[in-house]
Amino acid sequence: MGCDVASPQVEKGVVVAILLIEDEDGIVTFVRRGLESAGHQVLVANDGIDGLAMAMSDDVELIVLDLGLPGLPGEEVLRRLRQRRPTLPVIVLTAKDSVADRVANLEAGADDYVVKPFSFSELLARIRARLRSATQTRSDTIAVGELVLDLAARTVTVDGAVADLSAREFALLETFARHPGQVLSQVQLLDRVWGFDFDGSSNVVEVYVGHLRRKIGADRIQTVRGAGYRLAEQ
Ligand code: CA
Repeated sequence: MGCDVASPQVEKGVVVAILLIEDEDGIVTFVRRGLESAGHQVLVANDGIDGLAMAMSDDVELIVLDLGLPGLPGEEVLRRLRQRRPTLPVIVLTAKDSVADRVANLEAGADDYVVKPFSFSELLARIRARLRSATQTRSDTIAVGELVLDLAARTVTVDGAVADLSAREFALLETFARHPGQVLSQVQLLDRVWGFDFDGSSNVVEVYVGHLRRKIGADRIQTVRGAGYRLAEQ
């Protein structure tokens, strides 16, 4: 199972919401546990209708889609999803191990497929490959004023000087940088940056915002009383 997969530190703080659309509880538990151990945030839908609705969220960066689903079959979820989000990576889980079905799935817009029964490591390898290619087609840097994040190298420069951030600090700053000027609540930040690794201490966001302020400049992350924090747009 997924207990020996890379820690979030090894994953360099990448926080990605993966939507798992699957109706079999055993598979949901097994996949969710493994992906969370690998540092991913996991959302679950147990039928095709909920799955399609959740897939429209911008937070979802990859979908693992079972084909045999109640509500709406996986093939139909995929077809409708492609009309709305043509580039979102989708990995299909299929029990139908035949070449004809695979080809049909790929033509319908799946990026990859895994045949049941599958090992977690196989699924994780496919997910990583899809996320890598999705990242490469996006911009590798985010610039907010004088702050520049290199998402591939996981480095940050402030006015051209490199700031030495831990993986978690980088993940927090990346979350802010993807929403410059927007107030993010403590709950949103916990959810996106810590996910299920959250250790239960209530001031962890405040502590890490403090670390970031020391490293990138105190005025760059503003406290909005009663609401949360935001990255100054400058
Ligand atoms: Ca199923």
